[in-house]
Amino acid sequence: MRYCARLFALTAAVLLTFGYAHAQSSALDTVFHQDSLRLLVSRLSADSMQGRLTGTQGNLKAAELIADEFRRIRAKPLASNKGYFMPFTAPTLLGPLASYNVVAALPGKTKPQELVVFCAHYDHIGTASTNPYEFFKGRAKEKGDTIYNGANDNASGVAGMIALARYYALQDNNERTLLFIAFSGEEYGLRGSEAMTATIEQPEQFQAVINIEMIGKGRTEGMQHPMITGDRLSDLRKMLNRRLQLMDSKTFGRNYFVEEQYTEERLFARSDNYPFALMGIPAHTVMAGSPYDRLYHSVQDEVETLNFNMMSRILKAIAISCEPLVNGTATPTRINPRLLED
Ligand SMILES: [Zn+2]
Repeated sequence: MRYCARLFALTAAVLLTFGYAHAQSSALDTVFHQDSLRLLVSRLSADSMQGRLTGTQGNLKAAELIADEFRRIRAKPLASNKGYFMPFTAPTLLGPLASYNVVAALPGKTKPQELVVFCAHYDHIGTASTNPYEFFKGRAKEKGDTIYNGANDNASGVAGMIALARYYALQDNNERTLLFIAFSGEEYGLRGSEAMTATIEQPEQFQAVINIEMIGKGRTEGMQHPMITGDRLSDLRKMLNRRLQLMDSKTFGRNYFVEEQYTEERLFARSDNYPFALMGIPAHTVMAGSPYDRLYHSVQDEVETLNFNMMSRILKAIAISCEPLVNGTATPTRINPRLLED
């Protein structure tokens, strides 16, 4: 965060339905297992990544790790990019910096022109010596640690996006094209997503953008329901909750994805969904954490502080609830960009 005979026929149908549901639920349990999520977050937030500040070696190292994951599941690079890398120049306090968004696609089986995006930013705020803001230099030294590991912000979101890519690659039945994007330049002001949206010629192809931020921690110990930022701007939240209730109301209840909290913090405009929303695309952020979390943008945002059981549940909920979006049977309403002007 910047500042998913008649009796015989009946029996066969029941068996088929059960078989399918069973296969799907074991895929959910395997792909979103908390141990594999913990491993991904640990790798992305390791000290060797040096806080993943845009334009640094650590940032590039994280981009390569994400590209390796896309390669392993045989997701397709886009023809306009260099492999999975989409180069762009980020205007920053230190001047223009070269960086990369990491982008992969699972082409749609019957509706390839209709796109659904799952994204998360992988950059973070660096170290006491690389971050250009005096505030962060001082804050790091105070704690006797110099590396902003950014486990919750936003290794958790990136790990979630990668896990969703693994899940849909395994399912191999998406009717729409799924784009998986790890953005850089977010902490410098949504630079990666701005660069990406500047290349979009037909925004109407984009059916929805699910941006994932800070899903490793609840707002309080007891409050583990993720929120959808800008929930009133489209009917995405209702769509997702309706599907969850239909598929597994026992686990998720009726209102699993809650409305945006902390509206004074303008969370909707502070992450990579926003440049897409400005084009009228239903683009929202799924976020579990609080902007007032005392470890947010601190050197103590480390892997040990995350709740992987909760994170696993959130990702299963996204995978289950996004199924109609992925198979092209449901489409959220568009956002009216005029409602976004200050
Ligand atoms: Zn942040």
